[in-house]
Amino acid sequence: MIDTLRLTAEEARGLLERREVSGAELFAAYRTAIDERDPELHAFLHVCDDPGIDGIPLAVKDVIGTKGIPTTAGSKILESYVPVYDATVIVNAKARGLTVLGKTNTDEFAMGSSTDNSAFGPSHNPWDLTRVPGGSGGGSAAAVSGGLAPWALGSDTGGSIKQPAALCGHVGLRPTYGTVSRYGVVAFASSLDQVGPVAKNVRDAALLYSIISGRDENDSTTVDVPPVELPDADDLKGLRIGVPKEMNGVEGVEPGVTAAVNSALELAESLGASVEECSLPRSVDYGVACYYLIAPAEASANLARYDGARYGLREDGADFREMVMRTRDAGFGDEPKRRIMIGTYALSSGYYDAYYGTAQKVRTVIKREHDQLFERFDVLASPTSPTVAFPIGAKVDDPVAMYMNDVLTIPSCMAGLPGLNIPCGLSEGLPVGLQLIGPQFAENAIFRAAHALEQAIGFDIVPERLR
Ligand code: GLN
Repeated sequence: MIDTLRLTAEEARGLLERREVSGAELFAAYRTAIDERDPELHAFLHVCDDPGIDGIPLAVKDVIGTKGIPTTAGSKILESYVPVYDATVIVNAKARGLTVLGKTNTDEFAMGSSTDNSAFGPSHNPWDLTRVPGGSGGGSAAAVSGGLAPWALGSDTGGSIKQPAALCGHVGLRPTYGTVSRYGVVAFASSLDQVGPVAKNVRDAALLYSIISGRDENDSTTVDVPPVELPDADDLKGLRIGVPKEMNGVEGVEPGVTAAVNSALELAESLGASVEECSLPRSVDYGVACYYLIAPAEASANLARYDGARYGLREDGADFREMVMRTRDAGFGDEPKRRIMIGTYALSSGYYDAYYGTAQKVRTVIKREHDQLFERFDVLASPTSPTVAFPIGAKVDDPVAMYMNDVLTIPSCMAGLPGLNIPCGLSEGLPVGLQLIGPQFAENAIFRAAHALEQAIGFDIVPERLR
């Protein structure tokens, strides 16, 4: 019997290599788990048939293009869209023998923090079915946490890999901007979007990152990355950890979250790290405001392509203009419409300098604040999400409350830096996530630190109700 709740991808690879299970048996085990539990989790928008290859199944967030497999981005406007090519990350995954298990739920165009904005209905948190799994990549998070997939791909613009990982209690890496190709990925905000691994543990995250990363001639923002090392460290000797004081133990961060993060930091000290308070004053104060100019501005340009002529949905109209208007009105939900309007306004002539231009300058300040801290620290640590998982629907009528979910994940995203979530404990019976941020291209150092901490924390990633 394959225990899909506990089996890691690395273990699955071992079973396949030693021929203790076949690819078909592995695939079937996950299909059975999906049949059993997806009706209550709604992690998947589409489940694939066994491609008949001896590989490790991979769940894929539905913003990542998959040849011959529907790719909806959680939107009605792409409901009927079936890509004719694979995104580069899928090409890379297939080249290493991975098989696509299915496409996972997401807030529409990855805009959200809960999957409440999915046009196909929300996913549910495997720890408590009345609560959100986080977002936008809540489907991938619920799939991995609920034992429906050994690992998954997510995408992160302002927190969509790290925050769901925190709320569902597993590992998620948002890689350094430019290390993973965006070719074939539905674009939200191109200067921020990054694909990354969603996994049960740090070693699996490193393994998946090694598979998907690297220069791609189809994405001119990508670069070669240093060879990825699978971590096995169990101490933190010499590691200098900075804890930005604006991100921990402050108003808005739940006391139970602070408590779990503080015990993880004490553990880090006992493993040989030095832990010191530091400050990111402007990044935390202005990060969210700056993000909500830049991301909608870029989204408004990226979403202009959904015009009824090229992809997916098309409504009838007397002329081209009316056809486009009707298609966009019927196809987009409220959140993309809100962001297209904000972004179009912010980019309009006369306002461009005041809004987008200013936000870009603030972004440079955020980057510099981080760079300065990395002269003194190897990694920065903070809570990933200020709260544990909240009830489904609780924040749908208050977009700003929803936006504040990412107050701790957005600053490093704006700075293009890698960040990883590991679970560090429970509060009110729900997982709490610890965020580790490093300098650009410091994934190996983050993996090492996270792995040692993960071993010491000993968090059981299987949701209590499923044990
Ligand atoms: N929650 C943020 C937003 O709504 C981030 C989403 C993401 O990273 N894709 O934009």
